[in-house]
Amino acid sequence: MTLPSVQIHGAEYLSLKSLAKVVGNPPILARTRGTVRIQLGSSSLVLTVGSQKVRVGKSVVVLSESPRRFGGGIIVPLELLPIALGARYGENYVNWDPETRVARIGERAYSVRLLRVRAYPDHTRVVVEETRPHDFVLREDGASGRVVLELKRGIVSPSIRSSQVPDGLVASIEIQQLDNDSRITIHGAERRLRSKVFALERPDRIVIDLFPREGPERSSRQAETVTKTTPERADKLKPVARGVESTEPSDLLLSRQFVKTVVIDPGHGGRDSGAIGQSGAKEKDIVLDIGIRLRQLIEENLGMKVIMTRTEDVFVPLENRTMIANRHRADFFISLHVNAAPRSRAVGFETYFLSREPSDRGARASAVRENTALNLEGVGQDAQRGLKTVLWDLAQTFYVRESSELAELLLNELGQNLKVDNRGVKSAPFFVLIGAAMPSVLVEVAFITNPEEEQKLEQETYRQRVALALLNGIAKFKTRYEKRVGSMSAPSPVVR
Ligand SMILES: [Zn+2]
Repeated sequence: MTLPSVQIHGAEYLSLKSLAKVVGNPPILARTRGTVRIQLGSSSLVLTVGSQKVRVGKSVVVLSESPRRFGGGIIVPLELLPIALGARYGENYVNWDPETRVARIGERAYSVRLLRVRAYPDHTRVVVEETRPHDFVLREDGASGRVVLELKRGIVSPSIRSSQVPDGLVASIEIQQLDNDSRITIHGAERRLRSKVFALERPDRIVIDLFPREGPERSSRQAETVTKTTPERADKLKPVARGVESTEPSDLLLSRQFVKTVVIDPGHGGRDSGAIGQSGAKEKDIVLDIGIRLRQLIEENLGMKVIMTRTEDVFVPLENRTMIANRHRADFFISLHVNAAPRSRAVGFETYFLSREPSDRGARASAVRENTALNLEGVGQDAQRGLKTVLWDLAQTFYVRESSELAELLLNELGQNLKVDNRGVKSAPFFVLIGAAMPSVLVEVAFITNPEEEQKLEQETYRQRVALALLNGIAKFKTRYEKRVGSMSAPSPVVR
C-alpha cells in the first residue's frame, strides 16, 4: 500500500483517511470539536486538530507538528504513522525506515530497538535496548581506543543511526548492519577507553560503561575479548568485563542520585541584548536576573550543582553554551529567554524543545529571533547548515522524549504559579539547543513587547516567582527521571 503525503512548511503530513486505512479502522469524531479517535488493536489513538499532544493507549506522545485541517479533511504529521502502526500491530513487527519512508509490517522485525547514551561525571553509559536477548561479544581495542559490540543475529532498527557524541570521552558511535550480526563501534576521543559490560532484563538490554583509560595500561595486550551469552543474563548482573574492579554494577552508586548537575543558560548578553521592551527593559538583563535567582533556589532546595553559561553581561556564542554543558556532563540544560512579538498584545509563556521544523508560525518566529546571535558571531549561512547536520542526529535520537517531558513540566509549573496564559509546549530548531548531549529546553517567560508583561518583568517579586515556578518544574523532572532510571537499572537481581 502506498500513501500520498503532503508537505507544508517543510513538514510532511498524511491524511487521516490514509492513516485509518492502514490501521484498518475508521476515525471516529468525538463530540469535542476537532478531536478524533481511532481504534488500534486493543488500544486507541486520540488526536486533536491544533494540538501536538496525541494519546496512544495510556501514554501521551508530543508530535513535532499538530494535526491540522487541509483540503476538506484532517492531516496528521507523518511521524504518527509508525507510532500508530506500532500500537496496532505490536512495535516489534513494524519496521519503519524514515529514510526511504517505507513501513514494513511483520517483516524482518528488528531486534535492536534503541540506543541511549548518557554522560555521567566519571563515565559514559551506552545502553543498547533489545526486543529479545542476543548473544554478544565485546571487544576492547586499547590501542585504537575502540570498543566494539557485536550482537549475534541482531537486526538494528533503522531509527538508530551512527552519531557524534561530543561528551569529551566518547567521540562517536558507529552502527553497522552486517549480514547476520549487528555491530556497534564506540570510538573514544583521544584514544582512551576502558569498558565494563553487563546485560539486564525487562526490557532486555546491554549496558556498556565507558571510562577514561588512566595512566599506563596494566596490560599491554592490544585487544581483549569478552564473550557473554544469553543464559547467564538472568542470574548474574555482574559486569563481565575483564579486570572487574568491583562486583557491583556502577548502578549501585548511581542510583543514589542521578540528576546532579543542571546548566542554566541566561540567553543573549553583551552586544546581543535580545528583545527590548517599550520602556527599555532588555531581555539579556531580565533573564540573567531570573537565572541567578534560579541558581540560588536550586542549590538551596535541591542540592544540585548549577553551572551558569554567564553570570555577567557578556556575549557568549550559542555553540559555547552547549559546550559548557557538555564539558560539565550536565544532566539537563535550560535556556532562559523572554518573548517578543510584533503584536504588542501577545501574552503568556512558552517552553520549547528542539525539532528540525518549527511546530507553528510563532515557533518559527521565536527560532529566527533566538538564532540571530549567530549573525553576531559571524557564522555564515553555510556554516550554520553544516553545524546543524553534524549535531542533529545526536540530539534528535537520544533526548527528544526527555526534553519534551521537561518542557511540559516547566510549562505546567509556570501555568499554575503565575496564572498567565499558557501557550503550550512547542518545538523549533534553536541552535542553542542543538549540540546538547542531554535533555535541553528553551523557556520564553513572558512577552517583553507587551507593556503589561514588561512591567511585571521589571518587578523583582515577579522574577522571583518565575524562578520558583521553574524550580518546581525542575524538582519534578528530577524525581521522575531518577525514579525511571532507578527502576530501569535496579541493582537487585531480576526474579524470573
Ligand atoms: Zn532570547
